[in-house]
Amino acid sequence: MDAIVVGAGVIGVTAALALQERGLKVMLLDGQTVAQGCSSVNAGVIYQGAFPFSTYYRIPDLPAAFFSATAPAALDWRSAPSLLSWGVQYAKATRSDMVWHGTDLLHELCRNSLHAFGQLLGPDLPELNASGYLAVHLSDHELDRAKRLNSIRKSLGAAARMVSNADLVALEPAMCGLTTRHHAVGASFLEGSVHVADPASFLSGLLEVFAQRSGIVRVDKVLGIESKGARGAIVRCGTENFSPRAVVLATGAGSNKLLADCNHRVPLLAEKGYELELDVERGFITRPVALPSFGLLLTPSQLGARISGLSHFGLPGFRARPGLLLSALQRLREIMPVLRPRSGFEVRSGERPATPDSLPIVERVPGHPCVFVSTGHGHLGFTLSAISSSILADMVTDGVSSYASELSSQRFRTSTRSRAALLQATY
Ligand SMILES: Cc1cc2nc3c(=O)[nH]c(=O)nc-3n(C[C@H](O)[C@H](O)[C@H](O)COP(=O)(O)OP(=O)(O)OC[C@H]3O[C@@H](n4cnc5c(N)ncnc54)[C@H](O)[C@@H]3O)c2cc1C
Repeated sequence: MDAIVVGAGVIGVTAALALQERGLKVMLLDGQTVAQGCSSVNAGVIYQGAFPFSTYYRIPDLPAAFFSATAPAALDWRSAPSLLSWGVQYAKATRSDMVWHGTDLLHELCRNSLHAFGQLLGPDLPELNASGYLAVHLSDHELDRAKRLNSIRKSLGAAARMVSNADLVALEPAMCGLTTRHHAVGASFLEGSVHVADPASFLSGLLEVFAQRSGIVRVDKVLGIESKGARGAIVRCGTENFSPRAVVLATGAGSNKLLADCNHRVPLLAEKGYELELDVERGFITRPVALPSFGLLLTPSQLGARISGLSHFGLPGFRARPGLLLSALQRLREIMPVLRPRSGFEVRSGERPATPDSLPIVERVPGHPCVFVSTGHGHLGFTLSAISSSILADMVTDGVSSYASELSSQRFRTSTRSRAALLQATY
């Protein structure tokens, strides 16, 4: 076996496909029946023109973001003592030059994301809906900020424009109530974004392609990794051990568990997001519609539409609070009463692997030449999966990537000042 990828979320499946495309014999291992992690709870949007979290929330904004009655974010208080060092790194990531760098890099990665999906899958790429993405703004303050962000998006090559309420209703008639009752003050239209209505079956489709191309898929929990230096690694599973030449950990928010076997740790939190199926007709909306004031996103689904979002931070495995989504939905229903939960469906949650600077970590584990990690894709795992997996495959097969220093976890070890200099030199 040339390579084992641990974790069959969207990052692991695309990593396995990318390594397979480079001619490697690859096994994909997951402890659960496939695609049960964060990747199954997903709005299915491939964003164009994304910003780091720190663009929206600087340090003075955090109390309102976390503690107001309508806050779109929450903390798991039992995890709080362990969140401090991540918080310090987040504070550093709010420095203007860091925000600019992150914005530039995320835009570049998003710009290349669709091309990377095409390269990875060719004619096997499942259908994507290229109908763009709308964000409805409910206050003048939000509208002003959206105008500023859209002009940055445009300057970085992403198609973004403001649309009037009349255009919003022409695009999505279901938003009519928001405009006639004067809640909406305008909307942003990101035309280059695409989506899938069923992210779980999209991922199963990718997994099928991997298997058809002679990839091996096993359901087995990995209990430990033993690095053998340049000679590969031993992957210890519940039922069997394997000795591949390379191991890739694509284990999402809980990646530090297996990294500990290599004495490595990356700054990673679990940022839970929630989703719920709504009781609306199929075709209720035709493209994703975000409501940033509520931290929520409506997306077309197989049955009608789903609502998803919120940011609930804690250590991996912390207890979900479905009530967070239900109360946000209740507030939203005051202006969109039609949005009722569909009976028989429950709120589901997924743990986004979150880094302090909203950029993924894709690296060779220091001191272990055959062990790699790809995690920390936060809100953008579906979007960045194919492009970050192509970067990872460069690292595994060629030993280098032009993104190696920007996506390495070492960026959190250098002082802010030398990090800024490093970033300037590499970008
Ligand atoms: C509500 C919500 C909506 C979202 N919407 C979008 C969107 O529209 N667009 C977008 O780009 N992103 C979106 N995201 C983010 C995206 O879903 C995540 O970034 C992405 O799923 C992370 O994928 P992953 O493969 O790293 O992790 P996961 O999907 O969590 O996969 C990790 C896998 O590793 C396995 N694993 C862990 N430990 C072991 C072990 N020891 N042995 C074997 N297997 C193991 C787990 O079982 C799991 O299957 C959304 C997230 C949420 C929560």
